[in-house]
Amino acid sequence: MDCTDLYINGTWRKTQERFDVINPATEEVLASVASAEISDADAALDAAEAAMADWAARTPRARSEVLRKAWELMTAQLEPFARLITLENGKARSDAMGEATYAAEFFRWFAEEAVRADGLITHAPSSGARIIVQHKPAGLAVLITPWNYPAAMGTRKIAPALAAGCGVIIKPASETPLTMLALMPLLEEAGVPPGLVNVLPSRRAGRLVDHMLHDPRVRVVSFTGSTGVGRTLLKGAADQVLKPAMELGGNAPVIVFDDVDMEEAIKGTMLAKMRNLGEACTAANRIYVHEGIAPEFTRRLSAAMSALKLGDGTDPSVDVGPLVNASTRDKVAEFVADAIAKGAKLECGGIIPEGKGYFYPPTVLSNVPETADCVHDEIFGPVAAIQTFSDQHDVIRRANDTEYGLVAYVFSGDFKRGLQVCEQLEYGMVGLNRGLVSDPAAPFGGTKQSGLGREGGHEGMLEFMETQYISASW
Ligand code: NAP
Repeated sequence: MDCTDLYINGTWRKTQERFDVINPATEEVLASVASAEISDADAALDAAEAAMADWAARTPRARSEVLRKAWELMTAQLEPFARLITLENGKARSDAMGEATYAAEFFRWFAEEAVRADGLITHAPSSGARIIVQHKPAGLAVLITPWNYPAAMGTRKIAPALAAGCGVIIKPASETPLTMLALMPLLEEAGVPPGLVNVLPSRRAGRLVDHMLHDPRVRVVSFTGSTGVGRTLLKGAADQVLKPAMELGGNAPVIVFDDVDMEEAIKGTMLAKMRNLGEACTAANRIYVHEGIAPEFTRRLSAAMSALKLGDGTDPSVDVGPLVNASTRDKVAEFVADAIAKGAKLECGGIIPEGKGYFYPPTVLSNVPETADCVHDEIFGPVAAIQTFSDQHDVIRRANDTEYGLVAYVFSGDFKRGLQVCEQLEYGMVGLNRGLVSDPAAPFGGTKQSGLGREGGHEGMLEFMETQYISASW
């Protein structure tokens, strides 16, 4: 099946305007995809409204079983999904397999959560009334996803929305719409009714999404992407006072104390930095290493980074694929040039290879000054920027000195100290002696300008539900 049209009400709809999706490893056109207009958004909203009425009325167990089936089907098709992710996003096969597995897991987790939307019944302390609290589906949800995880950022929203009883319209990123479209036949086979999930790729994201946010049937806007676009959507959501869920940018610090197991710290830092070749909101952006171990840490991290093989992600021996597009690659190169101009030392990498594809090599910078742009902005690429510290309080202050608050990482051989530091970090998530925090069973999300709300865990489904309280006498 050629899934390159709009997916509305369980059918594929063609459009006059289309746009190209590029393979970042070859710069060749991979597919021409339909671009949604306002009339398509209206059709999708009509379909979602009609489908949701029946879906919300189904028992939680019935919804759960459809989600469970989606997990089974996707788990049986990880290879083709991973291949498509690699083709449109560029990431290496191992990263793509990791994403496909992670993406599928949201269906299993929310199949389990669908039957656990707990409520409460209790005595009012003074009035003698009963307090009954229950959760109900919030209404239609508009989901907007980024290009760095074409499958997982979608399933992390679709699965809880469906578990809660909501209908959805998804606007995938223009760089990578194919994976989300390819998921639709699978959801059909799992038993998702026509109209409940609709996919609208579009070159006119702003206009299309703004139109939907002003439709009175929409009650939730769930966005993953940059903080700038998140702010715009929050303003749009204000007019109808929509329930917002915002997963925005990060600037993750990694703090490495001098009592670490060096090998574990290198492994953890590599994972935090290089998962998804650094194109992750959770990617290690500032690496603070205690000055006592900084030379050895830098040497070993550079050796590990230099050993990674760069190339077309479809080659299974490749560790690091291309960045998603030329502007992302050029921005990474600018961060490196800026840091070096301001005094950082290039330990390895830093040279764009000749030929086709948006490749940038794994790179390590040491002695990165506080004034370097990469200390303040997301690098979003395979560049490890090392700074040193000597004082615990000072490094915590520096780690917190950002408008972002998504994730931080702490490596220490002293668990008590590690936990104390974690508690002082102003971040929604902290990895303690771990370079990976993402887990469908845990609440993912940030503080400050990294976002609002949580995805995954028990909290994820509540983002798509309203709490109703009934005060009852009997
Ligand atoms: P982006 O430019 O904000 O785009 C994200 C999505 O928003 C795309 O689908 C895009 O559509 C759409 N969009 C753009 N402008 C819009 C507008 N005015 N109104 C409505 N939708 C609009 O982000 P990105 O470059 O794809 O992704 C990278 C960013 O995402 C990074 O900052 C990263 O940290 C963040 N991120 C955060 C998380 C998290 O969980 N916190 C996870 C992954 C990524 P088009 O593609 O058509 O422009």
